[in-house]
Amino acid sequence: HAKRMGGDRVEVFRPTLQGEGANRLELEADLRKALKTDGISVFYQPIVRLADRSIAGFEVLARWNHPSRGAISPLEFIPVAEQSGLINELGMFVLDRGARQLSDWQSNFRLPVPLFVSVNISSRQLLRHDLINDVKAVLSRSALAPGTLKLELTESVVMANPEYSAKMLERLRALGAGLSLDDFGTGYSSLSYLQRFRFDTIKVDQSFVRPNGRSARPVILRSIIALGHDLGMQVVAEGAESESDSLELHQLGCEYAQGFLFGQPMEAAQATKLLEAEMASLHG
Ligand code: C2E
Ligand code: MG
Ligand code: MG
Ligand code: MG
Repeated sequence: HAKRMGGDRVEVFRPTLQGEGANRLELEADLRKALKTDGISVFYQPIVRLADRSIAGFEVLARWNHPSRGAISPLEFIPVAEQSGLINELGMFVLDRGARQLSDWQSNFRLPVPLFVSVNISSRQLLRHDLINDVKAVLSRSALAPGTLKLELTESVVMANPEYSAKMLERLRALGAGLSLDDFGTGYSSLSYLQRFRFDTIKVDQSFVRPNGRSARPVILRSIIALGHDLGMQVVAEGAESESDSLELHQLGCEYAQGFLFGQPMEAAQATKLLEAEMASLHG
């Protein structure tokens, strides 16, 4: 019986896999087209200071509104972009947009501490030597405050090739880019490497900020925040959704947070409105 069930399983599975392959190829072709026709856009999600909820910066997040399928999550199209090589074009688009927007904001809103923007960089982008030239070009074009164009890399990206990554990160830092370690705690977490990479910010993954069920949130969260601070880094908590999340993070000494409580990813125009309100409250 078991054998027959196993056989059935294979038959059920095969068409699904083929379907996924076809879907991927179709998505890849559509993504290529979208990149040529303004089909990809960027949204901005606020990152706030927990002490007073003022806006410290924004994370730039890619969005794809597919002509027939509607919104497709980056969790679905970023892997397609990575595997097809389209990530270099997509990544450059996001970097360019983010840097231009930041430049506009910095000249229009003179905040007490200059605003930052942070852009996600995938593994394939880091492996491509041109990333250095792309970042150099973007930075030399606009007079951004030092370190305010931040690059977000995940642990798995840097740990895939630690020696090489360490060199790339030093070169990016030398150009004046800020460096954030994204989704901290979900990757390899080799703590000895943390010291070598010299990130200026760690972003604590949502799973520690909002754990499922009754796991020990404060214990692990407190340790991660303390570790970040002991290594001289600023700490951003991801995925703060409730007032109690925010209160707890603040009590644990975390200085920045990002999450639906403070704002969903939004269009540039809406983010600009938030900054206008912030300026008004500063001068009011
Ligand atoms: P990420 O870099 O960790 O970005 C944070 C994700 O968490 C975003 O999902 C954001 O919308 C979501 N988020 C923020 N606050 C909350 C919250 O309070 N609750 C919950 N449940 N979620 C929250 P998004 O935009 O769907 O992006 C998913 C991932 O896709 C990103 O994770 C990043 O790894 C990748 N990604 C997005 N845009 C880009 C891009 O331009 N380039 C690259 N390489 N990757 C990107
Ligand atoms: Mg990120
Ligand atoms: Mg993240
Ligand atoms: Mg993430």
